[in-house]
Amino acid sequence: KESGRNTYRFFSSSMKDKLFSRFQIENDLRKALKSDTQFELYYQPINTTINGTLEGVEALVRWNHPERGVVSPLAFIDIAEETGLIVPLGQWVIRESCRQLRWWQGMGYTSLTMSVNISSRQFRHGSFVEDIQSILVEEGVSPKHFQLEITENGLMENTEEMINTLKRLREIGFRIAIDDFGTGYSSLSYLKKFPVTSLKIDKSFVFGLPNDLGDEAIVSSTIQLAHRLGLYVIAEGVESQDALVNLKQHDCTYVQGYYFSKPLPADQFTNEILSRRTK
Ligand code: C2E
Ligand code: CA
Ligand code: CA
Ligand code: CA
Repeated sequence: KESGRNTYRFFSSSMKDKLFSRFQIENDLRKALKSDTQFELYYQPINTTINGTLEGVEALVRWNHPERGVVSPLAFIDIAEETGLIVPLGQWVIRESCRQLRWWQGMGYTSLTMSVNISSRQFRHGSFVEDIQSILVEEGVSPKHFQLEITENGLMENTEEMINTLKRLREIGFRIAIDDFGTGYSSLSYLKKFPVTSLKIDKSFVFGLPNDLGDEAIVSSTIQLAHRLGLYVIAEGVESQDALVNLKQHDCTYVQGYYFSKPLPADQFTNEILSRRTK
């Protein structure tokens, strides 16, 4: 009986958490989008492999929830996508990343590339190209300093429409990266059709470097393939020097991961990463 009660209590509270959270996350997201003070962008450096110079940053959203503290995007991006709230949230992310980039440009860091994650629902939204273009004009930054990261699976839905949108974005000057490359279900033939500029090798393959021979095979052949297609390659999830050395041996262009830095709030990124770099 005793243990039954404990089990019950445990069960009911975790169930309540689950049922509650989905509904509450959606509710709280709506409030957060209205108040406009709860979201924050963290920035993680992307370095060149050759001499370790800073190529750019990836902007990663965080939600400073009034009761729950810092909430990871993994806990709310899916819900934002399902509810369509990703559209206003994504617009906030684009505007905020523009403002930060312009701030850094004003400090003299004029060659940084800002990478921003775009969910497929956001990308597919009718006026995405017009919207992002007008935000950049309003904020006074050029698309050539932006890389839009779109997941492999996101690209595979409605590919004809996708290719058209990508072409328009490329004409404007954006770089486009296929994110989480290797984890999705796209066929390699699509790589040729999509007008993208870069591949991001998913961290799940990078963690195993250099010891996991399977991971190494996948990573090294992806790098070769990308080079042959004239694409940049970025490896994410670089956590160790051994992984970095291995990626260098395979001529990976860019690297990103905890080995260099975790994603940081803007001020901390400016003080701890940027100010130690040459402009
Ligand atoms: P992602 O685009 O694949 O971003 C990389 C994730 O890996 C980030 O998690 C980053 O913090 C983490 N990471 C980077 N280096 C390392 C490493 O060396 N080791 C490990 N273990 N992890 C590393 P984060 O910030 O929690 O973001 C998770 C996902 O949420 C992102 O995955 C992206 O899909 C999504 N996301 C984040 N910000 C946005 C956004 O503004 N818009 C949209 N649509 N999605 C976003
Ligand atoms: Ca990404
Ligand atoms: Ca990834
Ligand atoms: Ca992802």
